[in-house]
Amino acid sequence: MKRKTKLIHGGISTDPATGAVSFPIYQVSTYKQEGVGGHKGYEYSRTGNPTRFALEELIKDLEGGEAGFAFGSGMAAMTAVMMLFNSGDHVILTDDVYGGSFRVMTKVLNRLGIDSTFVDTSNLEAIISAIKPNTKAIHLETPTNPLLKITDIEQVAKLAKEHGLLTIVDNTFSTPYWQNPIELGADIVLHSATKYLGGHSDVVAGLAVVNSKKLAEDLHFVQNSTGGVLGPQDSWLLIRGIKTLGIRMEETEKNTAAIVDFLQGHPAVKKVYYPGLETHPNHSIAKKQVRGFGGMVSFDVGSAENADNLLSKIHYFTLAESLGAVESLISVPARMTHASIPIERRAELGITDGLVRISVGLEDVEDLIDDLKQALE
Ligand SMILES: *Cc1c(COP(=O)(O)O)cnc(C)c1O
Repeated sequence: MKRKTKLIHGGISTDPATGAVSFPIYQVSTYKQEGVGGHKGYEYSRTGNPTRFALEELIKDLEGGEAGFAFGSGMAAMTAVMMLFNSGDHVILTDDVYGGSFRVMTKVLNRLGIDSTFVDTSNLEAIISAIKPNTKAIHLETPTNPLLKITDIEQVAKLAKEHGLLTIVDNTFSTPYWQNPIELGADIVLHSATKYLGGHSDVVAGLAVVNSKKLAEDLHFVQNSTGGVLGPQDSWLLIRGIKTLGIRMEETEKNTAAIVDFLQGHPAVKKVYYPGLETHPNHSIAKKQVRGFGGMVSFDVGSAENADNLLSKIHYFTLAESLGAVESLISVPARMTHASIPIERRAELGITDGLVRISVGLEDVEDLIDDLKQALE
């Protein structure tokens, strides 16, 4: 099955009970048993729900794993995966990881004895020097946010195997349409399905896919024990969103290429960050690892004042956090998503006050470029 076909026919695409082509929303908490333990595979919806299972089977197929799991948010998925570890264990993560992932590791899981170190994972030496006797996993985000740094998943997964560590990849930005970490050697894939997979700014959800029966058993145990599951209505919305992921990503790619081209030629733009650019420091890894560079672009307009001017004049890019939706979004990371990072650390990472991040949507690209043009004047 090719990729667009799999988005539509992967998982459990029709309801075996009725033939319904849109998988039904099983809005139910419990299931009638014919005798004690005599059930049809479902006992209680925290443990399993048919609509959620249809989504879990779909993401499993899309990522090429052993089992999929749906959670109430990306952070719930991440937390459940970290609950595979024990007090005293250590995890290495990408330094410019999503702010919420940084927060849960350093303000919540640290209290339970799960220790973390953040390194530039695009530098293999930096990972090697962070490995400790109690290290259990390497968590990668690639591309990163907002500077779109790329880590070589295959190389890191190989290193992780040599040291007996799990490789976990947050695949939110690329989606399984453009990047398949399990094929590259990863053990666990995470998604904030709130972004491209849902794609319509209407659902908060998280997904995890694992590559072995043992991890599937362990993660199902955590999911059922801690209970952060996704409800049937939101599971259905995600299945619906995923059906059009292919055409959305293809169209986003075209729009983004045109916008990057425009931004690069504009005198008010000091620097453009996009992994599809040959001048991007990790472009060669990106080319090897992804089929598309995605719809996230960051660019520097020089100062907070210039960024504010741009924001005050822009029409079609909505000022908002989040990304990956049909509508184009714009944000200023230093004062929004990354405001909690100390200013010196932001400077080290290159997240300047004039850095603007856009998530390119599906409007006509001529409108988007005209809009940027008038707002940059
Ligand atoms: C949004 C996001 C998350 C968190 O997901 P939620 O659904 O908001 O909980 C994790 N990782 C990345 C890369 C994200 O963009």
